[in-house]
Order: sequence, then structure tokens, then C-alpha cells
Amino acid sequence: MTFSAFRILKEGLTGNTGWKPHWRDPAPKQDYDAIIIGGGGHGLSTAYYLAKNHGLTNIAVLEKGYIGSGNIGRNTTIVRANYFLPGNSEFYSHSLKLWEGLESELNYNVMHSQRGLINLFHSDGQRDAFVRRGNSMINQGDDAILLDRDGVRQHLPYLDFDNTRFPIFGGLLHPRGGTARHDAVAWGYARGADQRGVDLIQNCEVTGIDIVDGKVTGVQTTRGAIKAKKVAIIVAGRSGQVAAMAGMRLPIESHVLQAFVTEGLKPIINHVVSFGMGHFYMSQSDKGGLVFGGDIDFYASYASRGNLPMVVHVMEAGMTLMPMIGRAKVLRSWGGIMDMSPDGSPVIDKTPVEGLFVDAGWNYGGFKAVPASGWCMAHLMATGESHEVAKRFRLDRFRTGEVMDEEGTGSQHNLH
Ligand SMILES: Cc1cc2nc3c(=O)[nH]c(=O)nc-3n(C[C@H](O)[C@H](O)[C@H](O)COP(=O)(O)OP(=O)(O)OC[C@H]3O[C@@H](n4cnc5c(N)ncnc54)[C@H](O)[C@@H]3O)c2cc1C
Repeated sequence: MTFSAFRILKEGLTGNTGWKPHWRDPAPKQDYDAIIIGGGGHGLSTAYYLAKNHGLTNIAVLEKGYIGSGNIGRNTTIVRANYFLPGNSEFYSHSLKLWEGLESELNYNVMHSQRGLINLFHSDGQRDAFVRRGNSMINQGDDAILLDRDGVRQHLPYLDFDNTRFPIFGGLLHPRGGTARHDAVAWGYARGADQRGVDLIQNCEVTGIDIVDGKVTGVQTTRGAIKAKKVAIIVAGRSGQVAAMAGMRLPIESHVLQAFVTEGLKPIINHVVSFGMGHFYMSQSDKGGLVFGGDIDFYASYASRGNLPMVVHVMEAGMTLMPMIGRAKVLRSWGGIMDMSPDGSPVIDKTPVEGLFVDAGWNYGGFKAVPASGWCMAHLMATGESHEVAKRFRLDRFRTGEVMDEEGTGSQHNLH
């Protein structure tokens, strides 16, 4: 089934009776060429590109809940390629290019909206840092425009420019940055993978990983044992727990990240805006809600709900930046379990167990990475070699010291 204007017209005139489920609901087979643990954005895109780019179709994605129940359906939907360090820069640049063709690639409306992202700065020192970042983005072939105070005012006139503590000095505009509809990304990749023969098995929790003589042979699940010579752990906030099933201790901690949405308002914010003196970012959803968030709660947890101190912090930052937001009613808040790596950068790599792969450590930023992560993970699983734009995402970098301390906001690991 393909989507088109003609199809919508036809269905509209015939009572919408011709639409079919987006994917099948197959029973698990006993044996697959490859198993992907985790039906989030990264697991689904990996399955899609394994099938599409490498012709591997005897694949199962095993998801313990339902497709889209994890972070892929919980994030604040920001898509950008404004990273600074080599390694991350080329990876996210590749990802943004894939985003730009994603709707026609998947024949699915993921509502990718390149509305522009503005990172504000509030001091001379911060301006220097953003000038460097902007130059690095331009060198990478992406777009960045430095705005002075008046330049920001033209885009975002409603901000508190003369706040006594944090006056706005300017901003770095990334015009190709924006948002996308998160669930639709999961559904689009799921549908695309299913159409290529991938089995999406929901309500199937992996409870063990079978290893014989240092090689992976399959997994144990709540729906029975399944064999496979290749298994990929792509479970975001549950990475540590699932890797432990293979006897591994990953350099990943799980932390909760909260987000908030207000009641629907008339169109008011037509960019993604990011505060420079605290962790706060905001955009307006297509339904009109102001979607915003801040930092992780800063304690390790597997609870997908957060705590009040961070709520207060986020609200304070919002009020500082844009006092009028105080008149909007918050409709709801929620949390997701983040896979925090010590340097704030991800891992796409083999493991010491032959045939076992891991894709983890996406921190706050894995939504925008979904296309490139799947692309590169599929490349690694199919060819055994790291993709050019993901070759620095090595698991052993925390031992060798080749870390990529992009944000300085990786988890602070307990030493004992
Ligand atoms: C509040 C919030 C805001 C965010 N905002 C942004 C943003 O604006 N931009 C951005 O780029 N990123 C953002 N992120 C980060 C982004 O959402 C994540 O990095 C990314 O979604 C993680 O990858 P995923 O989609 O594969 O994870 P998930 O959707 O969590 O997928 C992992 C899946 O694995 C499944 N699983 C776990 N254990 C097992 C098991 N034993 N067996 C079978 N299945 C299992 C889970 O049920 C889950 O469905 C945000 C995250 C949160 C929580």
C-alpha cells in the first residue's frame, strides 16, 4: 500500500475502507539471520537499512512493548546538525541529509519541518564559542548564520532581551534545523522494514542472550528461544541491563529526562529556541502546544518519570527567557530513560562477543540520529566494518582515552 494524494481522495470517496494495517503481526520464527533487540527508532531504522541497503531480509525486531513505546515516542522532536567535534560533526551531517529525503524514501509523512533552530548566547565568551561552532558547521558543509542581538529580535521578538541576569547578546541560527513528528518516524521505518520482509515482533521481551564459545547463537525471549548468528542490542535506556545478559558492563548509565507540553496555542513560535544560560529548549508543535524540556534529573534511574527539582529548574529557565510563557497552562509532562555515555557521544560497534553488536549512548540527542544510526549500524552488521561517518563511535574509547567530549554533559559515573 502506498500513500499518495490520489489514494487519499479515493479512500475519502469510498468510506476509508481500503486502508490496511501498516505492518504485519507475525509469530516469531525459530531462526533468523539477524535479530535486533529493541523496536525504537534506532532498531527500526537499522532493520530498514539492513533490508534496503544490504538485501538482508530474514530479520526480526524484538520489542518488549509496542513499537514507539520508548524514547522514540517521548522526545521533544528536535532535529539538527550543529555538532562541533570531528566524529559527531560528519555523523549528524549525514543524518540531516537522510532526514531531508526521508518522507519520499519511506513514502510516509514524518512531518519533518526545517523551521530553523536558534541557539542563544548571553556573553562575549559564549559568542566566541558559537562562532567556532558555526565555522565548524560550515566547514562540514552545513549551514550556520551568526545573529547579533537585533538579528535575534527579528526572529524572536517576544524574548526578554534585557533580562538583568542573562541579557541576550545574539544567537547562532541553523536554518536547516527543526522538528519532525516522532511517532511517525517510528511508524514509517516500521512500515518500510515490514514491506521488505522484516518481522516486527511486539510484546516480546528478550530475557537472555545465548553465547557458545564466545559467539552469539541467539536469544531467550518471553515468546521462546530464537536463534541468530547476529544480534544487535539497540535498547537505549535499557542498554546496561540487556548487555549484562551477555556478561558485559557498558560505560552507560540510565537517567531520566523530562519534557513538558502546554495547552494548544495559536502559532507563536516558529523556530526551535535554545537558551544559553541553562538547559532549556522549546518549539511549538503542529497542534499548538509549546513543547519544552531541560536537563536530565542527574540521578541514575529506570523510572520513566522525573522529579520536581528539575521541573522547577526548567520552568524558571523558561520564565527567564520568555516571561509570557507563564500565562500558558502546562498540559502534561513525561519522562524517558536516557542511555548516558560519559562523554556525551554514542557507541556503534562490535562487542567482544562474536556476532553481538551494540548501538547505544545516545544521551539526550538520539532522535535526530535515527536515520544515520540505522544506516551505520546496518553497514556494520552487514559488512563487519564501521561506516566512515561512525568510525569514532567505538566501545573501547573510554579505555584508550579517545573520547569525544562533545557537550560535557555525559553522565557522571559512580566509581564504585
Ligand atoms: C524527554 C525526552 C526528550 C528528548 N528530546 C530529544 C530531541 O529533541 N532531539 C533528539 O535528537 N533526541 C531527543 N531525545 C533522545 C531520543 O529520544 C533518544 O536518544 C532515542 O529515541 C533513543 O533511541 P530509540 O528511539 O531507539 O529508543 P527507544 O524508543 O527507547 O527504543 C528502545 C526500545 O527497546 C525496547 N527494549 C528494552 N529492553 C528490551 C528487551 N529486553 N527486549 C526487547 N525490547 C526491549 C524498549 O521497549 C524500547 O522500545 C529525547 C529523549 C527524551 C526522553
